[in-house]
Amino acid sequence: YYEQIQQSERIKTAGQLAAAVAHEIRNPLTVVKGFLQLYEQDSNIDHNTKERFSLMIGELDAAEEVIAQFLAVSAPAKAVTVEKVNAKADLHSVTSLLASYGFMHHNQIELHVEDECMIAANSMEFKQLFVNLIKNAIEASTENSSVRVSAVQKGPVVEIEVSDSGNGMTQEQILSLGTPFYSLKSKGTGLGLMICFNIVKKYNGTMKFQSEPGKGTTVTVQFPSYDK
Ligand code: ADP
Ligand code: MG
Repeated sequence: YYEQIQQSERIKTAGQLAAAVAHEIRNPLTVVKGFLQLYEQDSNIDHNTKERFSLMIGELDAAEEVIAQFLAVSAPAKAVTVEKVNAKADLHSVTSLLASYGFMHHNQIELHVEDECMIAANSMEFKQLFVNLIKNAIEASTENSSVRVSAVQKGPVVEIEVSDSGNGMTQEQILSLGTPFYSLKSKGTGLGLMICFNIVKKYNGTMKFQSEPGKGTTVTVQFPSYDK
């Protein structure tokens, strides 16, 4: 019994240490990136040098992304404040935030949300969840297709679906989702879905993946609805 406590204490400390290190690495990265951006904009440099600067900036962006996602998972869980989340308003802000990202990938996002979808969760985390799911859907999509986001009230729960007609997944791949660092993308972090599963669990929701290779994927999330 005693040993077990010690073990979990140690894990907690290691996690905190890792988070502190990640945080400390972030600041110098930001400084270096700032300088590289200045050099990149310098009109005296030739095209090849400019390319190299933007490559370096891209790599720093990737490192920053890993750190941001890592900090999001390792941050000590704050006291849960369950509030009334307006699914329509929040999904609207997430989809408009990601519209240009979709545009870059030649995809569009369709949103179909019923008016009175109120959820018992936390607005920030609700948005973080759907930023991750919709980004994955866009990244999986082939060009000129659309990602569909819908929300409906179903008895005591609100059901939200994100579906794409992208590359899909095998049963084996689906079973690996949420495992830290599981990613099939060259620049993926493999932390996005782990964050998503944590958020869903925290607010007593559920998340299911249905997918077929080459056909597409539908993610179904259910959250308890908010009753006054
Ligand atoms: P990342 O996006 O950084 O790779 P995630 O945790 O968000 O990490 O996703 C893990 C992996 O799950 C992805 O690399 C991808 O292989 C797979 N995946 C997630 N969503 C989808 C989707 N909508 N369609 C196909 N594959 C997906
Ligand atoms: Mg992702």
